[in-house]
Amino acid sequence: MTIHETDIVIIGAGPVGLFAIFEAGMLKMRVHVVDTLDVAGGQCAALYPEKPIYDIPAHPRIEAQDLIRQLEVQAAPFKPVYHLGQQVVKVEKAAGGAWQVTTSAGTVISCKAIIIAAGCGAFGPNRPPLEGLEQYEGKSIFYMVTQKESLRGKRVAIAGGGDSAVDWALLLADIAEHIYFIHRRPKFRAAPESVAQLEALAAEGKVEMVVPYQLAGLEGKGGQLSSVIVETLEGERKALDAQVLLPFFGLAMELGPIAEWGLNLNLNHIAVEPSTCQTNLPGVYAVGDIATYPGKLKLILCGFSEAAMACHSAYPLVHEGKALHFEYSTSKGVTA
Ligand SMILES: Cc1cc2nc3c(=O)[nH]c(=O)nc-3n(C[C@H](O)[C@H](O)[C@H](O)COP(=O)(O)OP(=O)(O)OC[C@H]3O[C@@H](n4cnc5c(N)ncnc54)[C@H](O)[C@@H]3O)c2cc1C
Repeated sequence: MTIHETDIVIIGAGPVGLFAIFEAGMLKMRVHVVDTLDVAGGQCAALYPEKPIYDIPAHPRIEAQDLIRQLEVQAAPFKPVYHLGQQVVKVEKAAGGAWQVTTSAGTVISCKAIIIAAGCGAFGPNRPPLEGLEQYEGKSIFYMVTQKESLRGKRVAIAGGGDSAVDWALLLADIAEHIYFIHRRPKFRAAPESVAQLEALAAEGKVEMVVPYQLAGLEGKGGQLSSVIVETLEGERKALDAQVLLPFFGLAMELGPIAEWGLNLNLNHIAVEPSTCQTNLPGVYAVGDIATYPGKLKLILCGFSEAAMACHSAYPLVHEGKALHFEYSTSKGVTA
């Protein structure tokens, strides 16, 4: 069995894990990156590649997939080794004090520090409990939209009351032929500004509000929906003439194997010391959505800062006895 040897293993190639490659590289620390998904990008790539993000500093608007592309370009000079399509299943102390990481594909990596940037762990959509759902999934029922153009001219039903449902209704309003917006109550959990825009589109007749209704059934053939059945709490049913259903009921988060590594957990998140992002295991850090501390904001920009702090804290573990002189990237330059 080959055991790879590196300075830092980053678990998770979401936006925060990708930026951690850059930060580690700037401190001359070699990196291997493991992700369960086949592509880098985490939630940005898997859940909302074409959705614009507005709160990345110096990018007034950037689509999620473009942000990931740029992060990969920024990380590339440091020659990270990616192990994609593999889940980290085991993290343990090996002889000599090194950490050893094992993946579902049998890859073993020995390292001096670990940065866990695993988002919400293994994630997947919350699926509505509808009979026959499986036959439509991936054909006319989608939990994420990877190409909004594929919905041009279609009659689309969107279900949910949070940001994803509302944002997609706004983005598809000029693309779909008709949008039904299904929600079980007239209150939404989305940003008030987005809800106001949705209500304006409804007033213009561009979106048909189906409220207060919830999903009750599906009709169609060979994976192609012909209608979506909805009903009120009182049992009043109606059929919507929809070809596509986009249910946005949030993500099911499962920590998976991470829960078994002896980390201090707090409601499915890893508790860290905020000034270093170190966990209760010395040399093991957690950054991004998975990390928690008082006042934590689950934002990409906070994850970037946490990645920088974790890498600076890990420096003495990698470069034993060498002092770290803080430098700006402008004076240092990007040298792999
Ligand atoms: C619809 C939507 C819109 C959003 N809009 C914004 C926005 O406008 N601005 C903003 O700042 N944030 C936004 N967010 C939140 C943002 O996407 C997250 O904060 C961000 O993705 C967190 O990055 P991360 O790298 O910590 O984790 P993630 O992006 O979740 O990536 C974690 C990666 O770790 C991998 N992983 C997990 N467990 C393992 C394991 N055991 N082994 C190997 N790999 C593993 C997963 O496969 C995943 O790829 C939005 C989220 C959603 C869902």
